[in-house]
Amino acid sequence: MKTYRRILLKISGEALSSKNNSIDPRVTQKVSQIVSSVLAQNIEIGIVVGGGNIYRGAALQESGMNRVVGDHIGMLATVMNALALNDTFRRNGINSLVMSGFEIGGGVCQNFDHNQAKENLSNKQVLIFCAGTGNPCFTTDTGAVLRGIEIEADIIFKATKVDGIYTDDPIKNPKATKYTSLTFDEAIKNDLKIMDTAAFALCKEHNIDICVFSMLEDEDTLSKILQGQELGTIVRN
Ligand code: UDP
Repeated sequence: MKTYRRILLKISGEALSSKNNSIDPRVTQKVSQIVSSVLAQNIEIGIVVGGGNIYRGAALQESGMNRVVGDHIGMLATVMNALALNDTFRRNGINSLVMSGFEIGGGVCQNFDHNQAKENLSNKQVLIFCAGTGNPCFTTDTGAVLRGIEIEADIIFKATKVDGIYTDDPIKNPKATKYTSLTFDEAIKNDLKIMDTAAFALCKEHNIDICVFSMLEDEDTLSKILQGQELGTIVRN
């Protein structure tokens, strides 16, 4: 069984939302419980959070906005989600800190620094990384892989609505079957829209595995995977 010392968890913005709330406190509470159980296994955890529940640059561009500005707004949305998660974590007694991919100042959060991040993680602090890569024209998936490489995570966990990667969209196609594992080349060749190609390409080059799983249906899923259960889908070289 593979043992993990440090993991990177990517949570989409949409995962934090519910029908009436862009950021649902019940969801941030669930995430907090999941993080506590990872820490209880003596595993260090960094989180990259998206912003799609609030704004996406591509959607803003469709309504006429300059793409770069739209992406800046999208990245600011990820900051809001990170602050909400951090607030929940800290109220639950988890030592956590937000690090941003671009400078924000005003004591809102810290700037990302890879050495500082590794030191804080080693001291059992949970880090929430926001503002993606800090640059427009990227996604938080790519940001997650980048941070995963920078903090030397053993694996990247991508939480999605479905419990792994399927041959087709399992919600639309009941005949779709789930992969237990596949290679980055297969994921790219079959155009499996789980992560963008840039994110897969970075993982491939830096030889860092991705595990796609469903986080919120069963709050113990991540812990079970960390304990060796084969849930979700692993993408590796
Ligand atoms: N974004 C960006 N650069 C990055 C990461 C994100 O410009 O490195 C912007 C982009 O506009 C994106 C938005 O932030 O649409 C929110 O991120 P994303 O859509 O990846 O969030 P998720 O789907 O994970 O909630």
